[in-house]
Amino acid sequence: MAVYAVLLAIVLAIVNIYPMRIMENKIIDTARVDMLDDASTLAAALGNISTLSADNIGSAVSVLNLKRDNRRIVATDRYGVVIYDSMSASRLYGQVVTFSEVLAALSGQDVFYCIHEGEAFDKWAATPIMNDAVLRGTVYLYEKDSNSALLLRNIAYNLRMVSLGAIVLSAGCLLLFNKALGNRFSKLLVGVREARSGNFNYRIKMSGSDELARIASEFNDLSAIIQANDMARRRFVSDASHELKTPLASIKLLSDSISQNKNISRETVNEFLEDINGEIVRLIRISEELIAINKVDDVTEEKYVCDVANTVKKAVERLRVNADMAKVRLQSECENGCLVLATDDGIYHIVFNLIENAIKYNREGGKVRIRLRCEGDKVLLSVLDTGIGIPEHDQRRVFERFFRVDKNRSRATGGTGLGLSIVKEWADKFDATIKLESYYGEGSEFTVSFPLCKVDDDGEGSEQ
Ligand code: ADP
Repeated sequence: MAVYAVLLAIVLAIVNIYPMRIMENKIIDTARVDMLDDASTLAAALGNISTLSADNIGSAVSVLNLKRDNRRIVATDRYGVVIYDSMSASRLYGQVVTFSEVLAALSGQDVFYCIHEGEAFDKWAATPIMNDAVLRGTVYLYEKDSNSALLLRNIAYNLRMVSLGAIVLSAGCLLLFNKALGNRFSKLLVGVREARSGNFNYRIKMSGSDELARIASEFNDLSAIIQANDMARRRFVSDASHELKTPLASIKLLSDSISQNKNISRETVNEFLEDINGEIVRLIRISEELIAINKVDDVTEEKYVCDVANTVKKAVERLRVNADMAKVRLQSECENGCLVLATDDGIYHIVFNLIENAIKYNREGGKVRIRLRCEGDKVLLSVLDTGIGIPEHDQRRVFERFFRVDKNRSRATGGTGLGLSIVKEWADKFDATIKLESYYGEGSEFTVSFPLCKVDDDGEGSEQ
C-alpha cells in the first residue's frame, strides 16, 4: 500500500509538472519568435529613415501595426538615448537607458528575455537599428502577458483536479481489489487450516480462473487424493487387525481349553498344540506379507537391469517342494535375454507369489506352466495352472488387499489375501501390467508384461 502511494505520488508529480513545463517553454519560444520578429521588422523600417524622430517612429509603429495593449515599444539612438516611447507620459525621452537588452542591442546583438512568475510572463526583446552596417540606434520591446499565465494556471488547476479524481478513484479501486484478494486468500487459508487439522473432506469454493482459483483447484485435488489414501490406509489397518485377530482368538481359545480342562488327555493337548502352531505359522505369514507390502511402499532402491530368467529359476527351485507335496507338476520355459529395469527382490515377489498361488489353487495331478519370453518391446512372464480358476466377477478383485475368493480354501492353504496385491504393487513400480485369464473350474493364467530393457555399450539399461 505504501509502495503504491509513493508510486502514485511520483506519477502524479510527473503528470502535473511535466506538461506545465512543456507549455511554459512553448509560450516562451513563441514569444521569442514573435517579439524578435516585430522588433526586427520595426528596426528594418527605421533603418531606412534618414532622421529618426518620435513622430516618424510612431508612424512606423502604427503602419506596421505593432501596437499591443500590453506592449511597450522604446527606440533609442546609437548612444542609447530614448527617442521614442509608446507609453504615454513617458519620462524616458532624452534619457540614456542602461537596460541590459538595450546595451546588448547597441553592441549589435538581438536579445530576448522572459521571466514567468505566476501572475504573468514578463518578456523583453531588443534589436539594433542598422543602415548599411552602421548602427543607428535600437528597438526595445517589453510585454507583460497575463493571459498566457492565467491560461497556464487554469490548466494546472484542471490537471490537479483530474489527478485528485484519479487518486480517489484508484485508491477506491485498490481498496476494493485488496479486499477481494484478501477474501480469496482467506478461503485458501481456511482450506489449509482444515487440512492441517486432518479434515480432508473440506473443499475450497473459489470462482474465476486466475492463479488463486487454480491453486484452490489443485488443493482440492490434493485433498481428494489424501482423503482416498487415508481411507485406504484405515481400511488396510482395520482389515489387517481383523486378519491378526482371528488366529489370535483361536490361539486364546485353544490355550484356554488346555489350561481350564484338568482332565484333558495328552492326545487332545497335542492336537490343540498342533492347531496353535498352525495359527502361529499363519500369524508369521501375515506379518511377513505385511512387511513385504510395507517394503513396496518404502522402497527407495534404484531400479537396475535384472535378468528375469534367473529369478524364475530360483523361485521354481524353492517351490518345487510345495508342488511335489500338492502333487502338481511344475514346468518352466525361459528365454534368454529377458532383461527388465527392476529390482531382484521385487521380481522375486512377483514370480514367487504367482507360482505359489498356481500350486495352492490347483488340484492333485494338475500342472503349472511358467513361460518367460521376449515379444517386441515387452518381456512376458506367464504362469498358467490347471486349477480351480477364478469366477469372472471376482477376477478384478483378486488384486485387492485381503480379498480371497474362498476364505476357507485360502486359510487351509495358508493364504493371507495379500499375495496378489503385493504382485500388483511391484508390477506398478516396474511399469508392468498384469493380465488375468481364468475359467472357473478349469484354471487360470496370469501374464505380467514388463517393458523390455536394452543394454547399451556402456552397460546402461534403458526401457524400450
Ligand atoms: P492368498 O494368500 O489368499 O492366496 P492372494 O492375494 O495371493 O491371496 O490371492 C487372492 C485370492 O485370489 C486367493 O485367495 C484366491 O481365492 C484367488 N487366487 C489367486 N491365485 C489363484 C489361482 N492361480 N487360481 C485360483 N484362484 C486364485
